[in-house]
Amino acid sequence: MLERYTIKQWLILATLLLLAVAVVFIDMLLFPGTILPAVVYAVPVLLAAYLLPPSMSVAITAIVVILVGVDSWVENSPPWRFSLDVLVILIIGYLATLLSMRIKEVAELAARAQASAEEAQLERTRLETILQQIPAGIVIAEVPSGRLTFASSRTEQIWRRSSTRPINIKDIEPRLFHPDGRPYSPNQVPLARALRNGEIVTGEQVKIMREDGTWGTLLINAAPIRDSKGNIVAAVAAFDDISPILELQERREDDIRMISHDLRNPLTPIMGQASLLQRRLAEMGLEREARSAEAILKSAQRMNSMIQELVESARLEAGLLELHLEPTSICQLIHDILERFGTEEERARIKMECDSQMPLVPIDRERAERVIVNLLSNALKYSAPDTPVTISAEYHDGTAMISVADRGVGIPPQDLPHLFERFYRARTGKRIEGLGLGLYISRLIVEAHGGRIWVESEEGKGSKFSFTLPITPHASGTRHDGALSPSF
Ligand code: ADP
Repeated sequence: MLERYTIKQWLILATLLLLAVAVVFIDMLLFPGTILPAVVYAVPVLLAAYLLPPSMSVAITAIVVILVGVDSWVENSPPWRFSLDVLVILIIGYLATLLSMRIKEVAELAARAQASAEEAQLERTRLETILQQIPAGIVIAEVPSGRLTFASSRTEQIWRRSSTRPINIKDIEPRLFHPDGRPYSPNQVPLARALRNGEIVTGEQVKIMREDGTWGTLLINAAPIRDSKGNIVAAVAAFDDISPILELQERREDDIRMISHDLRNPLTPIMGQASLLQRRLAEMGLEREARSAEAILKSAQRMNSMIQELVESARLEAGLLELHLEPTSICQLIHDILERFGTEEERARIKMECDSQMPLVPIDRERAERVIVNLLSNALKYSAPDTPVTISAEYHDGTAMISVADRGVGIPPQDLPHLFERFYRARTGKRIEGLGLGLYISRLIVEAHGGRIWVESEEGKGSKFSFTLPITPHASGTRHDGALSPSF
């Protein structure tokens, strides 16, 4: 119990007791027959209330009351005087205790406020350091003025700002434009929308006229910052300059266009002339020579389709391929493909099974045809000429599922997880000519439609490739702008 108090408190208690006793003795010795005003006796009580815990100050008060009693008895003062003194001492003690409690409370509150202010400052410094280290432009605007209270150093680099004058959203607005060059209406730039309407903006492309007069493209995310009651107090925007990426994409597109054009151009006359030569030689009865011309023609055609595959995969990866979705009858599409597909013998091997209840599916016809042709060509290529190939189309829970099954060489289990990777070729198919791009391209096209492609296969028994196409249009709409992820 005694350990509750510190040595310092015990010393103060002892000093105050001595003071109380000294006051009584001084009164008895220096002013015999009179009694000092109660306020003088109350001094130790007053000090105790401020300096000591309540239990100690109660003890001091009690002792002072006893000492005053002794003093009154020795000095023979009337009982009413003693009562009055005690009352004054108790009132002073009580008021002093209340006051000291209040002072301590206020001091504690002030200390706590100081501590939280320091903590908040530390937190702010920590956050600012983190934000400065993020390799993106970050700005924070406050309500209601729209003044920017924070701008990371990367922001200055992106805007190429020379002035250090504080800025407001209104100062930036005239420099920002929609990707097609239209200016933003007032309060419509992403940060203003987050600040005024609480909108969360993700991945918006914005053209910027930098402060040095050059143009760039930013990719902006913005979100409101709310207090505990949900009121918007500020908004933050994070953005990066994607101009170099767009320039690179443009250059890549030029390269692809150039490669596609320059490599395929010479093949056209080769194919035309070889075909003409083959027909002429056949008409002249020169069968062996006609077969040589046919070999030239087939090689040129193979080369043409390989170049096409290379160009197409590069285009898909660069996100340069636009999907033009249109409601299509899958059964009709397969039927049309089969009419034009391969040689007569190849067509004779293919069986078609189509769900007549299948609704129209929003697809890019040309791209979907490419997937179906890839799968059919593979099925024929990797199976014996006397075995059947089945193409089927079913409708389940909002998706169309198209499958191509063969009874060919099959695929070893260890190759299955990699089959849709770029340039991947299974062990069983290595002796047959190919680049290993067809399934990769098919996967990119199917995924761009919001579907999935997979294979079930058993080595030596055959394979079944299936893919799905959602009936409701994929979230990316009719156009696929983003780069398709090569992911492997
Ligand atoms: P390519 O046929 O030009 O090599 P693909 O991307 O179309 O490229 O196919 C990748 C690999 O998958 C092929 O090399 C082959 O090993 C295997 N493959 C594809 N389809 C089949 C199939 N129907 N049966 C057996 N293996 C197949």
